[in-house]
Amino acid sequence: MENVKAYYSNAPVGGIDFKNKNINDQGNVLLKPLLTGICGTDRGIVNAGLSFAYNPEGYNFLVIGHESLCQVIESESNQFKSGDIAVPLVRRPGNCPNCLIGRPDNCSDGDKHEAGITGLHGFMREEFKDYDYNLVKVADPSLGDLGVLTEPTKNVVKAFEVFEKVSSRSVYHNSSSTLEGKKALIIGTGSEAFLYALLSRDYGFETYILNRHPIEKNKMEMCQAFDVNFVNSSEDNDFPDKSSIDLLIDTSGDPGTVFGFVRKMNYNGIAILFGTNEKAPVGTVTGSDIDHIVERNITIAGSVDAARIHYIKALNYLSKWKKQYGNVLNDMITGYYKPGDLDLFRKKPDGEIKSVIRW
Ligand code: NAP
Ligand code: ZN
Repeated sequence: MENVKAYYSNAPVGGIDFKNKNINDQGNVLLKPLLTGICGTDRGIVNAGLSFAYNPEGYNFLVIGHESLCQVIESESNQFKSGDIAVPLVRRPGNCPNCLIGRPDNCSDGDKHEAGITGLHGFMREEFKDYDYNLVKVADPSLGDLGVLTEPTKNVVKAFEVFEKVSSRSVYHNSSSTLEGKKALIIGTGSEAFLYALLSRDYGFETYILNRHPIEKNKMEMCQAFDVNFVNSSEDNDFPDKSSIDLLIDTSGDPGTVFGFVRKMNYNGIAILFGTNEKAPVGTVTGSDIDHIVERNITIAGSVDAARIHYIKALNYLSKWKKQYGNVLNDMITGYYKPGDLDLFRKKPDGEIKSVIRW
């Protein structure tokens, strides 16, 4: 493709520029990004804070951007036609058994790639080519811009798949076979945390979302609309008053905070670690913490990325939530930016849930 405009970063050294680059894309569908979501990973790469990001072979730069909503411009595939809306998959398989069955999210040898993150160019460019099998069609036109939330939502859907598998090790539901009265605590108040909160409510959990400072008015309103309780841990350090957390989901990556709440987990509780922060301060795990985990059959599981099936389910959830919550769901997109608004990569705007670049 000629003269493709792209954001790029010389990962892991850092730096950002906006230049014309020739990138040899391959694929049977030509796509034009409509919106690209920004997340901590993009900011981490741009600011040289993520040691695991690396350039594609043969390139001394990496085009970033992995949360993408695109329009098909031209197609040689019978599955897509010009004008279709599509979301490209981030993770691309290697040759391990999990990758070979379409589950590169569970890659067994680390030999996969992630567009815009590890060894593969991402989607922050004016157009790119991809193969139809790497694309998920957005069939519901009422979703509009919300389709850009498919990528972050698919992570949440996969983590709940992990929850379902792990929770089957004992009777997890209550005596009426529901999750009513079970408590889920989500650490963090970013976009992933809000998406976790939405799915947690769908499952029937009494849902809490937590940060160590107050949250902005727009986020408080969103909690109200989604029937989610906000906890400011700097004011309420007794929360919860007893060991009653049945599901703990961490989006902070802060070990001290995580294990502070693992200590408050209920019998057969499940903790899903999702957030990562290489720079988080050291946390302490004591013998009595291990005793608590062992004696209560508590499971701590990591969950990363997701597979095609989770993108499809994520789109279904987003359509359902759009019907349920209407325009409140659109308020998850807290800011629209232009491709040249580079400050967006240096500083999180106040009240940000999801910032997006409109191409
Ligand atoms: P984000 O907006 O940065 O969310 C992180 C949240 O955690 C923020 O609300 C932050 O609060 C909060 N936080 C940080 N330290 C905390 C603490 N000690 N106690 C309570 N809250 C704390 O990022 P995101 O896009 O929602 O993503 C969440 C995390 O998941 C990130 O670490 C990201 O790298 C990771 N991630 C993982 C996967 C995966 O597949 N496992 C995929 C995507 C993203 P403030 O910033 O407001 O202070
Ligand atoms: Zn693999």
